[in-house]
Amino acid sequence: MPERARRTSSPNTRTDVVVIGAGVAGLAAARQLDDVGVRVLVLEGRDRIGGRVYTHRDARSVLPIELGAEFLHGDAPQVRDIADAAGLIAVEISGSRWRAAHGRLTRDVDFWAGLDRVLGKADPKRAPDRPLSALLAERPGGHRFADARTLAREFVEGFHAAEVDRISERAIAEGGNPAAEPESQRIGRIITGYDAVPTWLASPIASRVHLGTIAHTIEWTPGRVSVHTRGASAGIVQAQAAVVTLPVSLLHANARGRGAIRFTPEVDTIRDAAAGVAMGQVQRVGVLLDRPLVELLGERRQRQLEDATFLMGRGVDVPVWWTSFPVRSGLVIGWAGGPSAIALGRVPREIPSRAIVSLADTLGLDRRTLRRHVVATFHHDWCGDPFARGAYSYALVGGSDAAATLSRPVRRTLFFAGEATDAEGRTGTVHGAIATGRRAATQVARALG
Ligand SMILES: Cc1cc2nc3c(=O)[nH]c(=O)nc-3n(C[C@H](O)[C@H](O)[C@H](O)COP(=O)(O)OP(=O)(O)OC[C@H]3O[C@@H](n4cnc5c(N)ncnc54)[C@H](O)[C@@H]3O)c2cc1C
Repeated sequence: MPERARRTSSPNTRTDVVVIGAGVAGLAAARQLDDVGVRVLVLEGRDRIGGRVYTHRDARSVLPIELGAEFLHGDAPQVRDIADAAGLIAVEISGSRWRAAHGRLTRDVDFWAGLDRVLGKADPKRAPDRPLSALLAERPGGHRFADARTLAREFVEGFHAAEVDRISERAIAEGGNPAAEPESQRIGRIITGYDAVPTWLASPIASRVHLGTIAHTIEWTPGRVSVHTRGASAGIVQAQAAVVTLPVSLLHANARGRGAIRFTPEVDTIRDAAAGVAMGQVQRVGVLLDRPLVELLGERRQRQLEDATFLMGRGVDVPVWWTSFPVRSGLVIGWAGGPSAIALGRVPREIPSRAIVSLADTLGLDRRTLRRHVVATFHHDWCGDPFARGAYSYALVGGSDAAATLSRPVRRTLFFAGEATDAEGRTGTVHGAIATGRRAATQVARALG
């Protein structure tokens, strides 16, 4: 299905199951239900499928430019199986990691071990739960681990897109520390574009995906739902069950405006659980250079950074950078998560230029020289995106059980899926989101008999 193509007629209709959201979770749920002969209809507010998987293509770049998800984290079997079935090219990323500040570079050979020295101290049974910042304030490891503590803070802000004084220590201990699980350190990417994954998921159900159709109210009684929509195909969809796959930001009781949804009657368990989960903020900037980044460096640096994948800078607006290694291209990605993303969100128009300054300062390059090599920059404002309102979820203090609550059916009629509902430590990922869609489809099929 061409990603942007489908706008269908009014969804004023009856179906067995209505799925809200055509991100990977919604599409995975709909596809699995379709496979077992359940009639499904998918409502999607955007003009495209994929949600937070959002691939942009530009003739000037040999590689597609991911504006949302890019990596396969860990084994990610749900994604790798699709890549195999769809004949996609997934590559492993194994190059070197570097830390950089004011042009000084050090190779980070001890990255995961350093992280584990601190995050490994998080207690899965901590009662009462507390923010990770409280653990850091205890200075685990004393003077010797001061650097590891800074690394842990930077990692949690960047990788979890979280604020350390809000994220749950228990949740970090239960699945938020990849340093503890070597298999989850594996990382890959689909070099032909991540959007092929939602496209594959949607292929058998393409005619039942209604784009540009925003669900705003779900009226329900056990065994029956009426979903009210506005937009391209406004109307009412009636079904026996609904699978709701909205980002958790839209399930918060105080969410208003486009994308937010009202339940009649209200579903307190879901609203309460959603309150235990925050939407992490990220600013991700693609910078396309007219040559690979290393070619702008001196000879010694070129040799050092030939296989560089990640660079973690300090004291700049956009602190994390990665290259397209093992593919050699002029595309580099800048990443700011948590507090630095929130700060940048206040000056959205300055984000691309601040990113270029950050990259130059991190590598000790002359800013004007670097600017001359910039062909284009690419950025999607996930914070301001009404259908996302952030990048991905993280558990707040006291919220480490929220995903499990969100994953439970409500009166065999309302089912929730999406990355924030994954109770197996895969929140914030594509493979976790797919798994939740399939879990919800299994729950629905069971409920419908
Ligand atoms: C910048 C960024 C980088 C990321 N990097 C990675 C990565 O490298 N690896 C990784 O595994 N994961 C990554 N993620 C996370 C990953 O993208 C998500 O976990 C996953 O795509 C979520 O899928 P989902 O189906 O749960 O939600 P979504 O993709 O958000 O799908 C929900 C859908 O519901 C639609 N919707 C919302 N409101 C309504 C409404 N009222 N009516 C109808 N439709 C509605 C939305 O438009 C959307 O299409 C990243 C995310 C971001 C933003």
